[in-house]
Amino acid sequence: MINLPIYSPVEEIFDPLFSSKGVQLFIKRDDMIHPYISGNKWRKLKYILLEAEKLSKNHLVTFGGAYSNHLLATACAAAKFGFRSTGIVRGEELQNETLLLCRLFGMQLIFVDRESYLNKPALFVKHFEHDPEAYFIDEGGSGSLATIGCSELIDELNEVYDHLFCAAGTGTTATGILLGLKKNSVRTKMHIIPVLKGADFLKQEIENQTHGASFEFHPDYHFGGYAKTSNELLYFIKDFAASSGILIDPVYTGKMFYSIYDLINKDHFAKGSKILAVHTGGITGILGMAERFKF
Ligand SMILES: *Cc1c(COP(=O)(O)O)cnc(C)c1O
Repeated sequence: MINLPIYSPVEEIFDPLFSSKGVQLFIKRDDMIHPYISGNKWRKLKYILLEAEKLSKNHLVTFGGAYSNHLLATACAAAKFGFRSTGIVRGEELQNETLLLCRLFGMQLIFVDRESYLNKPALFVKHFEHDPEAYFIDEGGSGSLATIGCSELIDELNEVYDHLFCAAGTGTTATGILLGLKKNSVRTKMHIIPVLKGADFLKQEIENQTHGASFEFHPDYHFGGYAKTSNELLYFIKDFAASSGILIDPVYTGKMFYSIYDLINKDHFAKGSKILAVHTGGITGILGMAERFKF
């Protein structure tokens, strides 16, 4: 039985900046849903796993980079709900903290070169053509089942916020949240922070998939691109953690929270605004950058 009770409280955090600008910042703590099936990754996997179960597929096969939060979430969820799992990893064979945890959860890892990695359906056929129990889960768990899971975040809110922030990689989570806002007819203004460079295509994609839902897209907080960072961002993460007791990561949530502070500083929000930031989890991402933290 695939069920994970959602524990994701909303918590207000305080900063002299917020009071001086007359705004309030709240965090939807999806990072507390589970330490390893963390944040949006649980929401994205939920209906995919239910579908696999319905089809009697006992072997989850998925894809990711060597630091993928999705691989780790899938490995842990597979172990928890009684599936076998295989992770097809992009690039040369290596060991790191994320992959160690995947292995501990029983995931088999197959490393493939970057070119083969581009064609995931072909890889699935090559390795699992003769395994009737194998179930293909796309990289990052994208697709319509994933957006449905993400849309449920909105059903859990007891209050209406003026603004809602979410980091975007593939944009699946943001798309789901926009659909949730639409379904519940909530007037909240959505803000999307792409963590990769040149993400204009993502804006278009999210518009298409939400049939023109309105949102603000902030493409200038990528810090050089996906998984790129800077000392400014790392110091921000440290100050944030030290003043709030909440960890954020350099790949996703660090960039999103940085954007919120920056936009508050630039008077982007009316006085009295209530802002909700979705903490999408994934703090194991910090481990991959341990050597970058020089303080
Ligand atoms: C995967 C991930 C995201 C990106 O989610 P998308 O649905 O791909 O946009 C955001 N934050 C964290 C912490 C993640 O692990």
